[in-house]
Amino acid sequence: MKKRIAIFGSTGSIGTQALEVIASNLDKFEVEILTAHSNDKLLVQQAKKFNPNAVVIVNESKYAAVKEALASTNVKVFAGENALEEAAVFDTYDMMVAAIVGFAGLKSTLKAIDSGKAVALANKETLVVAGDIVMQRAVEKRVPVIPVDSEHSAIFQCLIGETRNKIEKVILTASGGPFLGKKPNFLVNVKKEHALQHPNWNMGAKISVDSATLMNKGLEMIEARWLFNLQPEQIQVIVHPESIIHSMVQFEDGSIKAQMGLPDMKVPIQYALSFPQRIPNAFPRYDFTRSPGLHFEQPDIKTFRNLALAGNALHKGGNMPCVLNAANEIAVYGFLRNRIGFLDMMEMVERAMEKIPYIKEPSLEEYFESDAEARNFAASLIHI
Ligand code: NAD
Ligand code: MG
Repeated sequence: MKKRIAIFGSTGSIGTQALEVIASNLDKFEVEILTAHSNDKLLVQQAKKFNPNAVVIVNESKYAAVKEALASTNVKVFAGENALEEAAVFDTYDMMVAAIVGFAGLKSTLKAIDSGKAVALANKETLVVAGDIVMQRAVEKRVPVIPVDSEHSAIFQCLIGETRNKIEKVILTASGGPFLGKKPNFLVNVKKEHALQHPNWNMGAKISVDSATLMNKGLEMIEARWLFNLQPEQIQVIVHPESIIHSMVQFEDGSIKAQMGLPDMKVPIQYALSFPQRIPNAFPRYDFTRSPGLHFEQPDIKTFRNLALAGNALHKGGNMPCVLNAANEIAVYGFLRNRIGFLDMMEMVERAMEKIPYIKEPSLEEYFESDAEARNFAASLIHI
């Protein structure tokens, strides 16, 4: 039986790479659902190639174009934000690849979990915003949440066969991003064109900016906390510019396991799709004899304050990670539109965390409220 896959966010960096993996393994996988926000042309092209049961275009003004382009096919076409949640509960698929970016991916991912679907999770913001609730529901429904994020895939792989063994700590590796070693006097002037040039990975715009500010690693600390049920003190971040070691787990005997390979998101994507099996591929291999060496250093959290702020949010818990995430989404949006500078992003996140009232154990509704409050507050700062 082929595994039936629903790709939410199929037109993005992760979504398109997931489709590449599927295209190379059509004996194992078939595509059931594809969703996109606005890129109707690519969505149509994907639908023609993979012939899914249904597609969702969130931007309703593109509905007619998609419908018409797929008129000669059997593909069902839905539009609008709510259609995402409706499609997430379809009983015609087995696994969701959650590859929507940002808070926008939360509701459909929760719906998938509630209806018992396995989730290959790329959308880290889902766990940053409401990780306690998401993971609790996954446990209740006995739904596997398999990380796609390369660091978390690495940790997940290091933990295979270790269920009875305690984790002493996890070591999340960070490339350092395009501005590794830079100081505020340089960063104050950088523009989105610089921030979007990542040395090792080719990713969507939001995560590229997050990698440049180190917010990405901050979000990943919080993601790791929920995926692996860790205490904040058990999570360490280390800069490793070559991105060969994708992350590590240290056990109680001091042994450290690492998962390694060339930086290529198709590897963790494929692993999440095929888990618990590994399937062969022809991707380039890492060669130790040609390695210029692996390097490690402390992250500069004075300059890249986002990492310190995320650490604070992680320790404080409650709605603080949600507030951090919401303010950051607005900040990145503002930066990508040249409305605010690089360092202003960190300032906005910090101010939102000071401003929005702390809630210790928020309900899902309270998470949504905190998200909206933090967004509104952060947006009000852009207008000043
Ligand atoms: P992207 O911007 O390339 O793609 C995002 C996808 O989500 C697109 O298909 C887009 O149509 C859809 N989308 C955007 N806004 C939406 C909305 N409001 N409603 C519904 N759909 C919407 O992003 P990406 O780089 O593929 O990242 C996706 C997620 O995976 C992010 O959470 C990111 O942090 C995570 N991730 C990405 C990478 C990577 O290498 N790109 C690595 C690890 C984790
Ligand atoms: Mg990552």
